[in-house]
Amino acid sequence: MSEDKPRYDFHMHTFYSDGELIPIELIRRAFVHGNRAIAITDHVSFSNVDEIIPAIARDCEQVDGWDITSIPGAEITHVPPSKMDSAVSKARKAGAKIIVVHGESPVEPVTPGTNRKAVENPEVDILAHPGFITADEAEIAKDNGVFIEITCRQGHSLTNGHVRAIASSVGAKMLVNTDAHDCEDISTYSSARKVALGSGMSESEADDVLVKNARELLKRAGY
Ligand SMILES: [Zn+2]
Ligand SMILES: [Zn+2]
Repeated sequence: MSEDKPRYDFHMHTFYSDGELIPIELIRRAFVHGNRAIAITDHVSFSNVDEIIPAIARDCEQVDGWDITSIPGAEITHVPPSKMDSAVSKARKAGAKIIVVHGESPVEPVTPGTNRKAVENPEVDILAHPGFITADEAEIAKDNGVFIEITCRQGHSLTNGHVRAIASSVGAKMLVNTDAHDCEDISTYSSARKVALGSGMSESEADDVLVKNARELLKRAGY
């Protein structure tokens, strides 16, 4: 039953950063797995933001005859918190419709303060894999409409249970994203639902996160 539901994934990589596929191939493969909207959010900093977002957008515009919305985005990655706001506005200007910030994953040396800086900026759409996010930070995310990510990605997902508990406790909205870097990482509705349930969500919470929250973000991004 859940196999038939549309899947939405707002955090995916191509070879424009450290993924393996070109954008149009990622879009095609995601469509075949039941994805009905994806955001391509390659790692960006000041070095590459102006080049890669328009390149990704060019493939997103070519989709024809497949029932999938493909959205050019960005994942602002390892930018110092003091430079975050400037990186976010540069990504917007370059054409990113969905902005993800690479949060304080338990498996990477992300600068402490990155989670907070991200949720303080209402221009940020998603705080990805936020590790040991605090209730305070989740509260700010809720107030600013920043979605908190439950991740399918190995390593980053070690703190999914903590992230889910904190987000639920303050009523902050979540999304389930793959952070896909190759074809095997692409999810279906039912594989993403397992990750949602594994983080501690109830069945109805999981369905809300996978469908309702995803559609809310799509609408906000103008789709
Ligand atoms: Zn990556
Ligand atoms: Zn990522």
